[in-house]
Amino acid sequence: MPRFVVVAELNGDGSLAKISTEVATLARSLAQASGGEAVGLVVAAEPDAPARELAGFLPHVVTIAEPSAHWHAWATIAAERAAGFLGAAAGEDVVLLGAGPDGRDAAGTLAALAGLGVLANAVAVAWDGRVQVEMGAFGGKLITTSGFTGSGGGIVTVRPNTVTAEPAPTQGAVESVAATGALELPLVKVVEQVVESGAAAPIEEARIIVSGGRGVGGPEGFQLVSELADQLGGAVGATRAAVDSGWIPYSQQIGQTGKIVKPELYLALGISGAIQHKVGMQTAASIVAVNRDPDAPIAEFADLLVVGDLFEVGRELLAALRARSG
Ligand SMILES: Cc1cc2nc3c(=O)[nH]c(=O)nc-3n(C[C@H](O)[C@H](O)[C@H](O)COP(=O)(O)OP(=O)(O)OC[C@H]3O[C@@H](n4cnc5c(N)ncnc54)[C@H](O)[C@@H]3O)c2cc1C
Repeated sequence: MPRFVVVAELNGDGSLAKISTEVATLARSLAQASGGEAVGLVVAAEPDAPARELAGFLPHVVTIAEPSAHWHAWATIAAERAAGFLGAAAGEDVVLLGAGPDGRDAAGTLAALAGLGVLANAVAVAWDGRVQVEMGAFGGKLITTSGFTGSGGGIVTVRPNTVTAEPAPTQGAVESVAATGALELPLVKVVEQVVESGAAAPIEEARIIVSGGRGVGGPEGFQLVSELADQLGGAVGATRAAVDSGWIPYSQQIGQTGKIVKPELYLALGISGAIQHKVGMQTAASIVAVNRDPDAPIAEFADLLVVGDLFEVGRELLAALRARSG
């Protein structure tokens, strides 16, 4: 019977990271499809509160209190404790983590410690007698489906916003387990934590995103993008073309080499809709594009294409929104 183990990741304030609620939802659906078991593992200095949050998504959560995680890099500590938790059964377990910096670090260390393979940056995971992991290849032009050989277990890192987090109908049980033995990997001291600039409106969690591409023409073009985002109560996104031109920070890049977003509304201004951008925003509930080229690729998947100059359309929209709110 397969066991899906979610290694929980935490925010800077010790609360459960949103990605772990998504990964937990995925683990629950895989357990249901396979007749297996889904379990969460929280390794933290103070694991109780995040474990209760995780138990809102999983039937069974195990905590390992690890005081050294307070001021030392979490990933190696979590990986070492996770390897101990998996124990001899590791070969059959499917370990699920987020494909962010912490999840990637922990996955790599756990792979070495537990002798498991890793499938990275999954955009979908299904069950078909074994886990089937979809990942983008060749710049997003191809989606591959891969699984683990041998006993079928391994580690999967899942890209944020590829699963919609859904709490379980009933709250799961939390069990505290004592750490076994001293940590052997060297601890990495955290001397300072800084908040990424531009993170005031995190695009991964925004309900509305107004995004600018090469068509906005320069950093001043993003003024209009950001005024529209403010009026709509949303966040600003961008294509790689705009980021590489230095018009906006990388933290706002959406796409294959940026972030995956899933807002209710995605307003794309001067964006052609290249496949590498599309993979980052195609699951938005509504996509509205403004482009002066009626044949731009984005026309094929936008719910609404406004053919026109983005500055003219954008300013009129801004005026209408201001009139409505004022
Ligand atoms: C390995 C790899 C990874 C990549 N990763 C990413 C990624 O993560 N994210 C990403 O976005 N891209 C990524 N790219 C780049 C991607 O291929 C495209 O080059 C990029 O998305 C194009 O950005 P754009 O739509 O802003 O620019 P363009 O393709 O140049 O499109 C600009 C659009 O603006 C329109 N336009 C111009 N002026 C106006 C105006 N005044 N009014 C209205 N419309 C106007 C044009 O008609 C055009 O459709 C990646 C590429 C590779 C090879």
